[in-house]
Amino acid sequence: MAKILGIESTAHSFGAGMVDESAILSNVRSMYEPTEGGIRPSEAARHHRGVADKILEKAMVAAPDAVAYSASPGIGSCLNVGAEVVGRLATELKIPVIPVNHIIAHLEIGFRTTTAKDPVVVFVSGGNTQIIANHKGWKIFGETLDTALGNAIDKLARKLDMSHPGGPKLEKLALQGQKILEMPYVVKGMDLSYSGIFTHASRLLEGGATPADVAFSFQEHCFAMLVEVAERAVAHTGKPEILLVGGVAQNKRLFEMFKIMCSERGAEMFVVPAEFAGDNGAMIAHSGLLRLKKGWTIKPEQIAYFQRMRVNEEPYTRILAKRGTKLSSTHIFE
Ligand code: AMP
Ligand code: MG
Repeated sequence: MAKILGIESTAHSFGAGMVDESAILSNVRSMYEPTEGGIRPSEAARHHRGVADKILEKAMVAAPDAVAYSASPGIGSCLNVGAEVVGRLATELKIPVIPVNHIIAHLEIGFRTTTAKDPVVVFVSGGNTQIIANHKGWKIFGETLDTALGNAIDKLARKLDMSHPGGPKLEKLALQGQKILEMPYVVKGMDLSYSGIFTHASRLLEGGATPADVAFSFQEHCFAMLVEVAERAVAHTGKPEILLVGGVAQNKRLFEMFKIMCSERGAEMFVVPAEFAGDNGAMIAHSGLLRLKKGWTIKPEQIAYFQRMRVNEEPYTRILAKRGTKLSSTHIFE
């Protein structure tokens, strides 16, 4: 049974994990925590380089048959560390490399760890907020027009002097909120916007509103917007399932709000287990395993990474195309 090592390094975390067909064998990570402000790309890359050997040592519980890496999307300097590490490993161990789209990996680990079959997927992380469903391949039904939900949460948490990542701390504070304060609720068609609500919440804090009320109201507004768009996607597609993935999927209030909507619609609600919600190496390994079965491997000298990529794109095909390889129809994803 093929064992795949997966390496994740797109943003704040350096992670490595191993999977085979029947089990997730390991999942280890280290998260970079900025001393102040948001992620500094060069600092994050330095962190990743510094922890890589230790994380790999813990994660490599067996000899891998192939190594998968997050090839896109992400922060250039962070992706670069993953590419370096994977190149070195593949050469040393003489094993093939599998490039993985990080967003697709968030989705696919959701499928592996739940019994969702054909859901509307709500992908909420530090860098992304998208409502995705399969309709002849992955389609984005709605997304944030500016800040991602996780990023907006982290920014507000920073205003409250909470260390990174702020999500769990803001969630705890919100439980103490007493009253709902009005905030901008911005849904445009199937898209949403979180930058105005962040500015508004910051002003309320500066004006003396209680942090707990602001945290509570902020979550209620942000999450309601997301539930509304996802509900419309369920109505359009007729898919009676919702799957929450990405770091913000760990928020219990978010789950509760989705659960209410789903029970009203007779839809079923799934959430990826907390261990696989945020960026992690096991999800990259799992997506690598699925691609290994299709033969989507590259050689160490073909390793490349891309800062931008949408969910309907495979880095494997982009790498081949970049090198002038003529694509056959089997290279075109689903
Ligand atoms: P990811 O980018 O998928 O690794 O997810 C990281 C994001 O998830 C960060 O913005 C975190 O603040 C956020 N996050 C983690 N736990 C929670 C939580 N309990 N509630 C809200 N956001 C969270
Ligand atoms: Mg992510």
